[in-house]
Amino acid sequence: WRNSQWRNAQWRNKAGAWVQRGLDQRLRLAVTGLSRSGKTAFITSLVNQLEHAGLDARLPHWPPAAEGRLLGIQRVPSRHHHVPAFGYEAALGQLSATPPCWPEPTRGISEITLAIRYRPKNRLKRKLQDTATLYLEIVDYPGEWLLDLPLLGMSYAQWSEQQRQLLQTPALAELATPWLQAGALLAADGPAEDGKLAPLAAAYTQWLHDIKRECGAYLVQPGRFILPGEYRDAPMLQFVPWVWDPVPGGLNDSHHYGMMEARFEHYKKHLVQGFYKDFFAGFDRQIVLVDCLTPLNRGPDSFADLRRALNAILQSFEYGKSGWWQRLFAPRIDKLLFAATKADHLTPDQHGRLATLLGTLVRGGHRHARLSGIDIHTLALAAIRATSSGQVSHQGETIPALQGRRLDKLDAVALYPGEVPESLPEEAFWRQQGFDFTEFAPPEWQPEQPLPHLRLDQALAFLLGDKLS
Ligand code: GDP
Repeated sequence: WRNSQWRNAQWRNKAGAWVQRGLDQRLRLAVTGLSRSGKTAFITSLVNQLEHAGLDARLPHWPPAAEGRLLGIQRVPSRHHHVPAFGYEAALGQLSATPPCWPEPTRGISEITLAIRYRPKNRLKRKLQDTATLYLEIVDYPGEWLLDLPLLGMSYAQWSEQQRQLLQTPALAELATPWLQAGALLAADGPAEDGKLAPLAAAYTQWLHDIKRECGAYLVQPGRFILPGEYRDAPMLQFVPWVWDPVPGGLNDSHHYGMMEARFEHYKKHLVQGFYKDFFAGFDRQIVLVDCLTPLNRGPDSFADLRRALNAILQSFEYGKSGWWQRLFAPRIDKLLFAATKADHLTPDQHGRLATLLGTLVRGGHRHARLSGIDIHTLALAAIRATSSGQVSHQGETIPALQGRRLDKLDAVALYPGEVPESLPEEAFWRQQGFDFTEFAPPEWQPEQPLPHLRLDQALAFLLGDKLS
């Protein structure tokens, strides 16, 4: 009798564990965006909100929190031992310093995993088990890496021609003098020497950084040149487009041209395809962060380039349209959120316009992605709210205003930054430059409190809503 009781108990345990495994889920949430779009701030605040969820975090639009079904959220070790850990503690340390600083931006890929224990709402799930766990794996990676996808469809000669066209823009050509002059000294059929190619590639990389900084360029390729991750100084990052004299036939990798062509192909195969195969293929959900405000401040060329860059990024989600996916792997992202970041730089009456503007920017891509069965949403948010909004009177009129501390001078200011265009800005907007965007210092914040934010709960509701039902 004792034996059969023991076997029954064992069976019950096994069945319980099996049901539990069925209820427990994993979700790989990828966070991307071009440099300084706000990825580090977003992930830091997201983890922080989740750690405070069900306690003192303000997440009224995230049903599991609003309904009191969250039982506990914990950071747990990541399953992927080869991926660096996201520097959450370091980021909180910087935000709680005196004076508070913004955390170090994203430079490569990193990951952080949270175990979210909750009480299911779904009746069937509840009958099986009182509690369930969602393992949320948040992966941070530079959006610049997605800009490389179009390279897969190009030969070295085609890419070089594209870059030659780019140099027709005077502002870009002006900054290119150092690498153009250095390359002009090389013969395409000269013997390949690392000692010559490495400094040439360094000058070219510097140009990419310069056009980003000076001209507000966004569509910079190859993306890994800007953010090489662990491949800094690797020979496969040491090539430049051949924009000089016509190239004689019959060259191989013992010549300058042939060596750069071989490296370009290697870059495509190992870095571009490798990223899609090893990482992108495993993502379940994706959020793309977009800072629309900086290019609005910089002017029409920068804004147009952001649009081009977003179009290049969107190609990664047009599974149905591109043949790449069939050849490479089957992606599984089923929800895609575009978030306009730093909404705390605007008065609340402008938040809707900011979301609409971002929607307009990505609309072309929306169409294709929807065809492929991806659920898409657009939102304006602030991961870490650095301002408070109120009203001031100006020449007898009451107008909305923001209060915060300026990032450069740390002085307290109250200002009205202006109106965001609701659709793609036209001539008149640029002529009047009605928008003046000031960078703010992070808020004064006590580490035991949740970070202040705007609409992170709405992002959570869209990205995780169905998983915690
Ligand atoms: P990353 O390169 O995408 O990781 O960008 P970061 O997260 O490092 O953000 C870049 C900069 O944007 C920060 O240093 C802040 O100055 C600013 N920033 C990011 N998120 C916010 C936000 O929610 N509010 C405000 N006011 N500024 C932000």
